[in-house]
Amino acid sequence: MLPDLDRLIRLQRLDNTASDAQRVVDAIPSRIDALDSQLAAGTKALDDAKRRLDTKRAERADVEKMLAAVQTRLSRFREQLMAVKTNKEYTAVQHEIATAEAQVQGHEDNILEHMLDLDDLTLAVKAANDALAASKVEIEKTKAALLRERAELEQTLGRTSAERDVLLATIGAAAQALFARIAKQRNGIAVVEARDGLCSLCNVRLRPQVFNHILLNTELIQCDSCNRLLYHDPDAKTAPTPPVEAS
Ligand SMILES: [Zn+2]
Repeated sequence: MLPDLDRLIRLQRLDNTASDAQRVVDAIPSRIDALDSQLAAGTKALDDAKRRLDTKRAERADVEKMLAAVQTRLSRFREQLMAVKTNKEYTAVQHEIATAEAQVQGHEDNILEHMLDLDDLTLAVKAANDALAASKVEIEKTKAALLRERAELEQTLGRTSAERDVLLATIGAAAQALFARIAKQRNGIAVVEARDGLCSLCNVRLRPQVFNHILLNTELIQCDSCNRLLYHDPDAKTAPTPPVEAS
């Protein structure tokens, strides 16, 4: 194989490794943000559940106050009943007592309903609290793993960069310049395999005499369509031969 071609293939592999690593590193902050949002959502769910519980408790306290007021009124009416002089007064106080008793019943029913609701809301607070605690543990673990992954990838980036410098020093100036120009135009990918008569990246069908030259790996040959440098990998598994179309 042409030595520069061999080195450019290795250079491209290093660049691919580095760009894959860089892509993952670049995505880590947004993955951490997503975990923080998940945590914030759990905290909000707990706060909401606590607020609903507090509201319900305050409502029950209000009903208890109203109940106490009606009970005070009821005792006063019962005392008045002892002191009434006329039938008319008696009937009027009896009527007040009946009204107050109905109110007591209403408030007591209301308090019972509130107690059932309070049980549900207390359970909901506990569930939200447990869920938050579990998700905190999970999120911390995931974050730690992401930070470890980032540290490893940064090592990979440092290593590939050092290897790249060493390799680059061995490549001829013209080949280096060609690689750099194509990489710049083609999103960092300057060298690709030609396989089954096709450029493996842009999939254009290569002219047979061009492909035959590529098979030799003795020249720097560019794809007519995407301009990338093409090489042949004798160890690559070829795809099954597509059926020949009738013409
Ligand atoms: Zn191509």
